[in-house]
Amino acid sequence: MLSHTIEMISDRLLAQLMRQRRLHEQAERSCKGILCSDCQKHPKQKIHLAISEQRPLILILPAFPAKSANREKTLSEKPDRGEIMGLENLNQLCKDMSAIYQPGVKLIICSGKADSRR
Ligand SMILES: [Zn+2]
Repeated sequence: MLSHTIEMISDRLLAQLMRQRRLHEQAERSCKGILCSDCQKHPKQKIHLAISEQRPLILILPAFPAKSANREKTLSEKPDRGEIMGLENLNQLCKDMSAIYQPGVKLIICSGKADSRR
């Protein structure tokens, strides 16, 4: 694949990702926004490598705010509207990115709350 094609696909995927990011108030003050080169540097290198090797892009989302395992703190064992909306948003992100990049995108959601009894 030509380097300018890799660059173009990489920029489009990165733009999709950067639109979804959320920053802590403090970080937002020092960041230059969605075009911030400091914030883009690491993911851009990873995206570039995946594209040049033509393999699926694997995203890892740590600390997804999943439902507490403690039933005294939840109304139901089923996902609530916030969880559904969050997952729908992530699913759409993967679909949008896969439309740009043929090998596709895989998202791994990690949550440390599944075993929490607090
Ligand atoms: Zn930044």
